Amino acid sequence: MSLHLTDSLTGKSVAFPKTKKPIRLFVCGPTVYDYSHIGHARTYIAFDAFARFLRWRAQPVTYIQNITDVDDKIIARAAERGVSYTAIARYYERAYHAAEKKLNIVSVDSYPRASSYIKEIIALIEALIAKGYAYQTDHGVYFEVKKFPRYGELSRQNLDAVRPGWRVEIDPQKKDPLDFALWKKTKGEKPAWQSPWGAGRPGWHIEDTAITQKLFGVQYDIHGGASELKFPHHESEIAQQEAVSGKHPMVKAWMHTGVLLINGQKMSKSLKNFVTIDEFLSTYTANTLRYLVLSHHYRSPIDYSPEAAHAAHEAAQSIERFAAYSAFVAGAQKTGKRLKIAQWQKTVMAALENDFNTPAALAELFRVISYINENALSLHHTDILTARSWVLQILAMLGFTPPTMQKIPTSLARWARKREVCRASKQFMQADALRKKIQEVGYTVDDTPIGPFLYHQR
Ligand SMILES: [Zn+2]
Repeated sequence: MSLHLTDSLTGKSVAFPKTKKPIRLFVCGPTVYDYSHIGHARTYIAFDAFARFLRWRAQPVTYIQNITDVDDKIIARAAERGVSYTAIARYYERAYHAAEKKLNIVSVDSYPRASSYIKEIIALIEALIAKGYAYQTDHGVYFEVKKFPRYGELSRQNLDAVRPGWRVEIDPQKKDPLDFALWKKTKGEKPAWQSPWGAGRPGWHIEDTAITQKLFGVQYDIHGGASELKFPHHESEIAQQEAVSGKHPMVKAWMHTGVLLINGQKMSKSLKNFVTIDEFLSTYTANTLRYLVLSHHYRSPIDYSPEAAHAAHEAAQSIERFAAYSAFVAGAQKTGKRLKIAQWQKTVMAALENDFNTPAALAELFRVISYINENALSLHHTDILTARSWVLQILAMLGFTPPTMQKIPTSLARWARKREVCRASKQFMQADALRKKIQEVGYTVDDTPIGPFLYHQR
C-alpha cells in the first residue's frame, strides 16, 4: 500500500505514491511575539513525526515552516515593552527554536522569515491588482473576497452568516467586511517598507503565499497547520494563490491538526489557559508530550488535563521499563517460543500509511510491549531482541527520545546477590531488609526464575 492522506479541503483520500522528488510540505510556523504553548507544540510534534515517517520510508521531503516576524501582535508587544519590534521577533524566534530542540523536533529544513520576502509580497499584490482581485483604499490594499467564489470552501462556512460581525480591519472604504488586507499603509510607525502604495507592511496571509510561491511554486504537495487557521488564514492563502496562478488545486492535500482543549476550551493566549512548553517540561519529559500528541489522530482534538498528562507519562515510562526488562530477559535466556514479528510490522506500517494513523500504530506497539513483558520468560531470546529493537526503532522514527539504558550500581547488584543467597537459605527477614535497602535508593526488585530484575523508576 502507498501512503494515503485525507485532504481536509475535499474530505477525499489522496494517494502519495513514492517518488524520488521531495514531497513539498509547508506548515504555518509561529508568530513570534510570545512563548509557544503545548497547543502549538501539538501541531509541530505531529508534523515532525509525519516528516520523519516519510523520510524513514525513503520518501524525500522538503519541509518548510515560516516564521511570522511581521505582525500586529509583535508590534503591540514591542510598544508595550518599549523595545524594537525586531528585538521581540528575534527573541521569541530563538525561544521557539530552543523549545523545538527540547521537544526533539528536528525535521524542518528551513524557516523563512516573512520580513525576507517583502519584494515577493509586493510583486504578488501587484499581480492581484492587475488581475482585478485587489483594490486600494486610503488605508491599504485589500483582496476582494467576492471575486473568488470558492472562498469559504475549506472551512465550509456560510460567509453571509460570518459577514455582519466580521471587522478585522477598520476601514470604511472596504467593499466587504470579509475583504482582507494584503498591504497596510503606515504613517511613520515601524516596521515599514516602501511599496507602489506608499510606506507600509504586508498583511499576514500574503506573507505565507509569497514564501510558498517562491520556494515551492504555485502548486505543491501538502499544506499543513492547526485547524483554527482554516478561516480566514488558509482560505485567504488559497484565494490569493489560485487567483494569481489560475491553477487549482493549490496543494494535493491539506492536513489540519485538531485543537488542544483544556477543560473543554481551546488552549489559547487570549483565554490565558495555556501551559507553556517549558512549564510542561518542568514536570514531564518530551516523550510524555510526544506520546500525548501521537496517541491521538492528528486531526482529532486532544482533551488536555493533569490526568491525561499523567497517563501519557506512565506510557512513556513503560517504554523505558520495556527496554530494560526485555534486554534483561534476552540476556539470560537461550530457548523459547518463536515470534511472528512480520505481522506486527505490517500492522504498524499499514496504520501509518493510512492517513498517518499514529494512535493505531502506537496501540499495536504497546500491545507488543505488553505481550513481551508478560511472556518474555517463555520466548526465544533472539526474537525478544529483534522485537525489542524494532519497537524502539519505530518509536525513535516517530521522534521519541531513545531510552537511556540504566547501569545498575555495583553496590546494588551486590545487595541483590546477597539477597538471593538469603532467600535460598530461607533467611527471609534478612532478604526483606535487603529489598528495603534497594527500594530506599529508588529501585524496584522483581524476582524472576532467571534472577532478580532491578529497575529504577523515574
Ligand atoms: Zn500560515
